[in-house]
Amino acid sequence: MTRAFSGIQPTGDIHIGNYFGAMQNYVKLGRQLGKQAIFCIVDYHAITIPHEPEALRRRSFEAALVNMAVGLDPEQVTLFVQSAVPEHTELAWIFMTQTPLGDLERMTQFKDKAKQHSVLSGLLTYPVLMAADILAYKADTIPVGEDQVQHIELTREIARRFNGRFGEIFPEPRAVHAKDALRVPGVDGQGKMSKSKGNTLGILEEVGEIWSKLRVAPTDPARLRRTDPGDPHRCLIFDYHRLFSDPALTAMVETECARAGIGCVDCKKFLMRGVERTLVPIQDRAAELRRQPDAVLTALETGAREARALARQTLEETREAIGLLR
Ligand code: SF4
Repeated sequence: MTRAFSGIQPTGDIHIGNYFGAMQNYVKLGRQLGKQAIFCIVDYHAITIPHEPEALRRRSFEAALVNMAVGLDPEQVTLFVQSAVPEHTELAWIFMTQTPLGDLERMTQFKDKAKQHSVLSGLLTYPVLMAADILAYKADTIPVGEDQVQHIELTREIARRFNGRFGEIFPEPRAVHAKDALRVPGVDGQGKMSKSKGNTLGILEEVGEIWSKLRVAPTDPARLRRTDPGDPHRCLIFDYHRLFSDPALTAMVETECARAGIGCVDCKKFLMRGVERTLVPIQDRAAELRRQPDAVLTALETGAREARALARQTLEETREAIGLLR
């Protein structure tokens, strides 16, 4: 692994599923790779579905702020907003001219989304923009969720096709899944935590709000009375303990739940200690960054300059290879 790239959706509504599933891994990658860890807030992707201009601006800012608050340090990594680096769209156009329509029409995400919205052509072609995002930096490592694997395959195909026709320019990137990328359950116990299901615990949500959700969250359905032994492995509160609590407390909960040594309310209160320990420092940092928005914007501008210096080199090679007049 020499250079990693990841696109960050512009949303400030980030929940603990995002935090434990992806963001912690970004912070780790940043420590390993420094400036070679490239994080791009993908606002051009966000406009492939109908959007409100002010909301988009706010969400792009929030995405930067929240990621910085959880520990992504813009001085250490490369962090910027996609639309500030026009080489992404320029390279996307070049790739589009080389990509058969059928390759895009068979993308599962396109097929799913096309059922829900009237189809804008950007929705069809955005996997090509995603390929350009990655290949503009010749990134070899792409941390992604399972839903993006097909797009990384397409990126590899685009790189292969281009190299075959015009000469070796692009490496074929690899999708990597963080070992500890967890499928965090939603607080309603109905499968994965997701914004669309409204079952999230937000990382910037007030601790009191989080407690009101956890207090009424379902536990092991077979544990009807305090005196019934429970099965922590059938309880989402125990899943949360594994994320937030230290190993000693997690082990205690596992044992005591199974022999009815603790009640569910106490168990949830124990969980809140870890929730507070994890989230309050993040929320404090977010509040501090919110007081100095210019510092966030300046960090993004610097990141865009750094990213652009890399992307420009790739574009020069690409333009030369396909025969554009200088
Ligand atoms: Fe779940 Fe804890 Fe109750 Fe066991 S004691 S069922 S782990 S909330």
